[in-house]
Amino acid sequence: MADDPYHVLGVSKDATDAEIKRAYRKLARQHHPDRNPDDAAAEERFKAIQAAYDQIGTAAARKEYDQQRRIEEMFARGSNPFSGFSGGGGFRTGGFSSGQGFDFSDILNQFMGGRGGAEAQFQQQPRQQTRPPQPPPVQRGPDIEAGIDITLEQALNGTKIEFGHRRLRICERCEGTSFNSRKPCSKCSGKGVESRSSTITVRVPSGAQHGQQLRLKKMGHEHPQGEPGDLLINIRLDAEEGRRWEGSRLIQEVAVPYSTLMLGGAVRIRTPAGKRVQIEVAEGTRIGDRRRLAGHGHDGGPLDIEFILAEPEQVSKKQKEALDRLRDSGL
Ligand SMILES: [Zn+2]
Repeated sequence: MADDPYHVLGVSKDATDAEIKRAYRKLARQHHPDRNPDDAAAEERFKAIQAAYDQIGTAAARKEYDQQRRIEEMFARGSNPFSGFSGGGGFRTGGFSSGQGFDFSDILNQFMGGRGGAEAQFQQQPRQQTRPPQPPPVQRGPDIEAGIDITLEQALNGTKIEFGHRRLRICERCEGTSFNSRKPCSKCSGKGVESRSSTITVRVPSGAQHGQQLRLKKMGHEHPQGEPGDLLINIRLDAEEGRRWEGSRLIQEVAVPYSTLMLGGAVRIRTPAGKRVQIEVAEGTRIGDRRRLAGHGHDGGPLDIEFILAEPEQVSKKQKEALDRLRDSGL
């Protein structure tokens, strides 16, 4: 399996799309072959970065990647997310590859929107004879999990987000009745459900937190003969340039000139609330040192600042001379 693209780009799984783009741009600049001529390792790394970005760099690609990963994880845990479709006998994980005309990629296609016209066959399997009679299980379509990105300001005030939503809906022609029947419907090929998309409006309450999950009841995949699953929406707050979340902690990078790190001094920062604040930098501060500023984070919470080295785009002649003297002195 290819490397985890989140890991390659150095972002967390709940990073916003914008955060992923920023991380990509930074890494692509750093590892660009033009900057690293004749460095095979840098070239490999650059290719890996590109590949990772192809996987999760756009909202659509990322949605697909995340969905696939969730399905794979569900199977890896040995549970069966599609038991609701089986009508009792159940597709067991082991049954997928054993030549029953059932291809795992069909399910994925189905859940990804049925590209290529793949047709999953939701066949009823015979009940095992040894089992005592059991009440029929509650039939339920699978849940869908998705993420939406909002700004810090939208989170404070609440907002409405238009969300493009694709899911399995009851077939319009047979209304689900051809599921498992001997005469499959020509529209849904006897699945009883078909993939349809719509745009829904998601209401995000004020005070929404990064990582909070909204559950939209019955907005998941519909089941031809049972209840629909739910739609689970993970809220991601875009921390904006130079900031990131570590769990629920908001980290802001503060670029400090090397001389200020060594000698101490002060820098000014802009907080998430747009306030300008002066930060005292102690003598001998190191790159990566952190400090917590109470009340300056999102929604009045703490803001953790992390010192990084300011890298000037250009160095003046005077600065070059000063750097020369620094070098001569051994620094
Ligand atoms: Zn149908």
